Amino acid sequence: DNTEELFSFEESLKELAQLADTAGLMVVDSTYQKLANPNPRTYIGSGKVAEIKTAINAYGVETVIFDDELSPGQLRNLEKAFGGNVRVCDRTALILDIFDQRAATREAALQVALAQMEYQLPRLTKMWTHLERQSGGKVKGMGEKQIEVDKRILRTQIGVLRKELESVRKHRKQYRTRRLAVPVPVVSLVGYTNAGKSTLLNQLTGANVLAEDRLFATLDPTTRRVQMKNGKEFLLTDTVGFIQKLPTTLVAAFRATLEEISESSLLVHVIDISHPLAEQQIDAVEKVLSELDASSIPKLMVWNKVDKAKNPEELKLKAKNLVDTICISALNGSGLDEFCDAVQEKLKDTMVWVEALVP
Ligand code: GDP
Repeated sequence: DNTEELFSFEESLKELAQLADTAGLMVVDSTYQKLANPNPRTYIGSGKVAEIKTAINAYGVETVIFDDELSPGQLRNLEKAFGGNVRVCDRTALILDIFDQRAATREAALQVALAQMEYQLPRLTKMWTHLERQSGGKVKGMGEKQIEVDKRILRTQIGVLRKELESVRKHRKQYRTRRLAVPVPVVSLVGYTNAGKSTLLNQLTGANVLAEDRLFATLDPTTRRVQMKNGKEFLLTDTVGFIQKLPTTLVAAFRATLEEISESSLLVHVIDISHPLAEQQIDAVEKVLSELDASSIPKLMVWNKVDKAKNPEELKLKAKNLVDTICISALNGSGLDEFCDAVQEKLKDTMVWVEALVP
């Protein structure tokens, strides 16, 4: 599998920066180190720790994110080394934060909470072992007992969450039917993180398009109202992006946050066509869409960032010969007119159906 090779650590760090941005953080710097063996105490070497500390002071950094998983001991030691107010976290914790922010349905929120607890469970073990060491072996087993108690509490909570999830899933069908009765079509942007989904969302909508309106009172910040040339409106919603390096423990939570897309009238699959792995990314997204029962929803393929591609003219020609495929640059606005026309055309059937519902 050459995906691993192509997806270099530089790409991985770039994605991490993008994820931090999605989580609402501003990235000021990034760095890496190649070590034969990670330092057991601080993961990185002491020189690197000092270098990062200098950057922390220079920029007034609040958060340091590691691309690899850190042990709880390493987390603690790094936090100590960087100074009291700096939060240290790893990729998994960052992704969990994003999922937590973006979980729009009860089911997604439960699934994310479950993933957060499961992330904590193995960490608990190591968290308490220091008690034994501190006591000099006199109260041996004390830490172990505490671990058992805490693990039992956490397992009970996990069990409760699982049961709740089950019951929420049972009621999902009813809930969907109700949502479908809202007489405004929903268009969902899907695709990899960094594909340009939010750039497209912002291009198509002004920042102040969100009118105070009872019907839209429940809109989250990633959903906007868009008016088409024909005067009709749709809701455009940005979904949580796919992640190249998604920890396997987070797969269920990720899918749950995407669950709502199966209620969309139209899917817009945004692709960074300038990305070396564009084709693999398309396949990965399509595979998950079919697993989410979203294959039957009408779809537009949007090849974004043509301005950045090596062969823009060739791409445009290629897209013309494909069904429902449009070349755009969300950044400079080229192709957006054609895109809007395509959305309007695709929504026509839905609109007819909606008008039949609303006299
Ligand atoms: P999202 O994660 O899918 O929401 O992606 P963003 O909209 O945040 O875009 C990720 C990065 O790609 C940002 O730095 C954008 O400025 C950039 N970007 C988005 N669209 C284009 C485009 O059409 N051309 C170029 N060159 N860059 C783009």
